[in-house]
Amino acid sequence: METVSVCCDSCGASLEFPNGVSFVTCNYCKSKLKVKQTSSTSYTEIVEEVRAMSEDVESLKKESRLERLDREWESQKELFMIKKKNGFSYLPTDVVSFSQFIPVLFGGLIGFVTLSIVLLSGNKVEGVTIFMLILSVLTILFGLFLIQNRYKMKNLYLKAELRYKDSRRKLLKEMNS
Ligand SMILES: [Zn+2]
Repeated sequence: METVSVCCDSCGASLEFPNGVSFVTCNYCKSKLKVKQTSSTSYTEIVEEVRAMSEDVESLKKESRLERLDREWESQKELFMIKKKNGFSYLPTDVVSFSQFIPVLFGGLIGFVTLSIVLLSGNKVEGVTIFMLILSVLTILFGLFLIQNRYKMKNLYLKAELRYKDSRRKLLKEMNS
């Protein structure tokens, strides 16, 4: 069977097909081509350029997926934001503020002062002293709870961020392939 070799008018790939065929579809870009033949050469003309169209649509879809991913992450980030009374809000991964250690330090101070007074005065541990010691322990526990909570938030945030970055990377890779 005699074959004809031509270049795809759309992507330039060389195509071979049986002589006499007047329409072909490019194997590479899927463009529909009309085969033109002169006495000396054969060439193709695009009838329907499928590729550019479908690629545009695809890349638009992926772009909007990326946009949506980014937008979703922004609103998810909002949930993790720690809002301060002064109007500032920051992420759990931002600088650890001194303020979150205040309850622990304060509780420790109460305990330290109470024990010092007891030791120095030689009084029995009773009444107000017991109350102060319990207060000290509870304040410390409360402080530790707050700190631990903050770290939990931080870990949750980091995990969510990792997931987001991962999805984003995959999508970008898809877009570039
Ligand atoms: Zn082609």
